[in-house]
Amino acid sequence: MQITNKHGVPEPLMALASRDYYSKGKATYSVTEIISPPRVQRLREIHDSEIQQDVSDMLWSLLGSALHVVAERSQVADHISEERLFLDIDGVRLSGAIDLQRVDGDMVDIVDYKFTSAWSLRADKEDWHQQQNCYAYLVQKVKGKKVRSIRICALIRDWSRREAAIKPDYPQAPIAMVDIPIWAYEDTEKFIRERIEAHRMAKVAADWGEELPLCTDSDRWVRGDKWAVMKEGRKTAVRVYDNSEEAIALAETDSKFNVVERKGEPVRCTGNFCGVAAWCSQFKQEISNEDER
Ligand code: SF4
Repeated sequence: MQITNKHGVPEPLMALASRDYYSKGKATYSVTEIISPPRVQRLREIHDSEIQQDVSDMLWSLLGSALHVVAERSQVADHISEERLFLDIDGVRLSGAIDLQRVDGDMVDIVDYKFTSAWSLRADKEDWHQQQNCYAYLVQKVKGKKVRSIRICALIRDWSRREAAIKPDYPQAPIAMVDIPIWAYEDTEKFIRERIEAHRMAKVAADWGEELPLCTDSDRWVRGDKWAVMKEGRKTAVRVYDNSEEAIALAETDSKFNVVERKGEPVRCTGNFCGVAAWCSQFKQEISNEDER
């Protein structure tokens, strides 16, 4: 990936952005890699030299890197910071870097730092569950210790004191500890094996110039159609529904209400959050299907 510097950001920050803190070490796959869609990973590999990102768009990943450096420096008894574990499984080497492990005899408590938004914190983060349970599996398999708890230390980048005061379901502090459910050992092992196989098949397809496995709706962050009930003189919706019937029923209760349909979309593709939308035939096909409608 080429990192550009369109806004004259100081060189040390450029160097930090260019240094890969999330290197998978001498492994075939990292945990982060296997939980992401195979199509995205392969397109990133194929188009690595063409992908451009400006350093100014990497603010949160830069702060994430800085946090990892700071965490590594802080040595506290019975706590292991930034340890990368390796495991040979099904003919490949899998690695995972764990932010923090608190060791208590044969037990380990895992903590992972994440910068996130307040909105995102309230949604169920399936990828957090997958990633952290893979780490728990590595700890159990490599170290022979039992994982007692997994928690995310969420650093909420857009936290608002005002929102916290008026909304009871809003995070009450800019740092929140989030418990992650621990999966059964066998379920995690099955999940890891399936993900490795999916990535292996995608590699074979890429090597043979065949179509890559398609991203699923969940991979593409597909947001379904919504129906917003709007009120005259108000910019935000009174209420948003997943179906038109409920929206129409509410709109009929007040002459100032009307219903506006919001078309759904694959947010990861349209916003290029995968970074490879420009080279993705699946996304191009979808755009062309939309144009024909
Ligand atoms: S553009 Fe969409 S379908 Fe294509 S790789 Fe990215 S997320 Fe997947």
